[in-house]
Amino acid sequence: MSKKLFCIIGPSGSGKSTYVSYARKETGYGEIISTTTRIPRIGEVNGKDYHFVTREEFEKIPMIEVDEYSGNLYGTAQKDLDHAYVNSQCAFMVITYEGAESFKKLFKELNLDIEVITIFVYTPIEELEKRMIHRGDHLEKVKERIQNIKNRKEYENKDKVDYIFEVDVNQTIEDVCQLFVKLIKSI
Ligand code: 5GP
Repeated sequence: MSKKLFCIIGPSGSGKSTYVSYARKETGYGEIISTTTRIPRIGEVNGKDYHFVTREEFEKIPMIEVDEYSGNLYGTAQKDLDHAYVNSQCAFMVITYEGAESFKKLFKELNLDIEVITIFVYTPIEELEKRMIHRGDHLEKVKERIQNIKNRKEYENKDKVDYIFEVDVNQTIEDVCQLFVKLIKSI
């Protein structure tokens, strides 16, 4: 059986990390923890949410994939890819559309037996803005991120992925998480 990498794509505030952490507990699948130069948000834990590093440290780490988002660097270290598959044949990764596409290409070139599955988490943009404010992001940052989502035309990527996970904002988080797990288990 080939390994699977579920690449979870969606703008900032779409709930990607919440759904992944819920699904990890339900499925026992691994997760690739990325490295970033971004400052941790309130409640984020180094080594769990990301490996938080300085730009100088980032540049010294051998990365298999790197992207820049909202002025910060994000990347995947080879050791974190290996680590994700220690206990399971499947792993999650929260990543940009471009990052997931470069994985598809890279794994093919390297002849790696890892199937990349892209899933776009679709949440309406007004809801994203509300969530960013609610989680304590500075208003300036919220404006910048919303503008960035529009500039990057992130919603256009929705039509290029393997699966779209449409979030019904009227449902409870628990219900949405369960629907997400259902989708993952069906793939
Ligand atoms: P945030 O700062 O909101 O946690 O993440 C910003 C964006 O960077 C999100 O779209 C997230 O999916 C993406 N991202 C996180 N880690 C990586 C990574 O290792 N590589 C790439 N290409 N994107 C990442």
